[in-house]
Amino acid sequence: MMAQQQTPTDIARLALRELGQRQLPPTPDNFRRAYDDIAGVKTESPLQMLTRALRDAGISNSKWLGLATQMEAAAAKGDMAALEQLVRQLMPAGNVSGSWGEILREVLTELEANRPGYTRSKKKDAIERVLSNFGGDATALASKLQGLTALWRGEGENLPPELLAELKESSPPADEEAPGSPAATAIWWREMLVQTLEFGVLASLSHLPELARHAQEVLDQARSARTDKQLYSLGTALKSFWMRLEINRDAQSRLHEALLQLMRLLMANVSELVIDDEWMQGQTQIINDIMMQPLEIGTLYEAESALKELLFKQGKLKHSVIEAREAMKKMAEDFVARLAQMTEYTNRYHGKIEAYQTQISNTQDVVELSAVLDGLMRDTHSMQMDSLRAHDDMKDMQVKADEAHIKVRELTMEISQLSELAHEDYLTGTLNRRGMDEAFEREFSRAERAGKPISVALLDIDHFKKLNDTMGHDGGDAALKHLAQVTREALRPTDVLARYGGEEFVIILPETNMEEGIEVMTRVQRDLTKNIFMHENQKALITFSAGVAERRPMELQETIVKRADEAMYRAKHAGRNRVLGAIV
Ligand code: GH3
Ligand code: MG
Ligand code: MG
Repeated sequence: MMAQQQTPTDIARLALRELGQRQLPPTPDNFRRAYDDIAGVKTESPLQMLTRALRDAGISNSKWLGLATQMEAAAAKGDMAALEQLVRQLMPAGNVSGSWGEILREVLTELEANRPGYTRSKKKDAIERVLSNFGGDATALASKLQGLTALWRGEGENLPPELLAELKESSPPADEEAPGSPAATAIWWREMLVQTLEFGVLASLSHLPELARHAQEVLDQARSARTDKQLYSLGTALKSFWMRLEINRDAQSRLHEALLQLMRLLMANVSELVIDDEWMQGQTQIINDIMMQPLEIGTLYEAESALKELLFKQGKLKHSVIEAREAMKKMAEDFVARLAQMTEYTNRYHGKIEAYQTQISNTQDVVELSAVLDGLMRDTHSMQMDSLRAHDDMKDMQVKADEAHIKVRELTMEISQLSELAHEDYLTGTLNRRGMDEAFEREFSRAERAGKPISVALLDIDHFKKLNDTMGHDGGDAALKHLAQVTREALRPTDVLARYGGEEFVIILPETNMEEGIEVMTRVQRDLTKNIFMHENQKALITFSAGVAERRPMELQETIVKRADEAMYRAKHAGRNRVLGAIV
């Protein structure tokens, strides 16, 4: 308190007296200490301030505590060189370059980057370890983080060897060696192989359980292969699997070819087996044409449906025609038998008459003649009776033969009519391609005469293959019928519905422009969602994609259908279950 009233000169004087009294040499340090005591203030040298700060920091990091102690010792010894060396240790380490911002950005980028041998979670583990080991030491932390990102990038060789060794321990790659090395590449390839086997191979073998099992075994082996030896034996296992696959594919393609050949042979000879040539030739030609196309499931379905149609009609007619022909033959046989019988009678009577004639001309005796005449009368009468009977039989047979003939003619005509009438699709009852072609011709010229617009829609059921897979082929067929029925009910009576192919339908919309056509097809879509399809207690929502084109002046059927088809494909690509207009 007292000191505060004193001037600095007073204090300096008192300090010198104090030194003298305590017999201390008046060094600057001793003087300042004495001065501070008297002035009642506590001043610190920069070194004291520094060591005090270091001791405070030492609470969280003992490194600073050590430095403070070493500095004080050096200062006490007056070893200025050692002191400077210790102060320099406070500077950031030379191998840290760049700011924290850059370091963090680098860490984030590397964390997301795809580096062989280092998954995202492995990288996160390594960061976690570095953070918990060096979190209290910003300098060390920065250099470790930079080292880690270099290691992940495959630039580990550029790091100081001790740091590299230390980091490898914090961030071990999937393999013992650094990424980019042959072993890490092998691991990457193994992963690719596993995915190929799983998604490319196994997924396509569902119909071949034996091979699928084999593929699963190889897949398991690939998943667990770690060492060179395991990878090598994986190679052997793969080879034997491919071989089996190859053999199987070979067998399958031979089977395909053989089946196709059988089918062609059958078709070539089928006309020999059936009755009405003209009609059959038309039908077999259709199937032959289909079978000449490259083999694919759609083609087979078309052939199947054409064949079914053929068998159905053939079966219905064949029976009656055969019956009628058999009857005719039987009658002809009877007729001939009767004729032979008649000739026989006539011959016998002829002989008798000759005998009577001789008797008549030789006899003189009236009684005898009368007896001869009696006999003659009797015989001629019975001859007449026989002949009459034969005549009646003949007439009867004639009528029956005529009837049978008419029947055969009728049936034959029915067959040829059926051939002409074969404009309907057997499965759905809609028009078939032939019927559609005629309808196009008719409707186009009608529209031209009336000067009215006309549009064409083409619809293709969405994911029909899947429906076939889940509900079976019969379910698919029933779905086609259902769609045809719902569609027909949604259309006007003047609209034409035709099956264009497997699960594709063409709709001709007279007096309809494109916008109206799109509306009509949207209505069909709505009706389909209202009338959910049921098959064997299974429900399925049938959706379709459609394209609608309005006819350009004098546009050909082929061109307008192509435009509608193109719009339908755009509808598929846009996500299905929608109706799009064609390019005008
Ligand atoms: P997308 O939506 O792309 O049209 O898929 P999708 O499965 O319908 O594909 P795509 O048109 O290529 O396949 C049509 C399938 O329809 C092929 C065949 O399995 C099936 N299919 C064709 N005709 C018939 C048939 O008469 N009956 C049955 N049950 N299925 C048929
Ligand atoms: Mg299709
Ligand atoms: Mg389809």
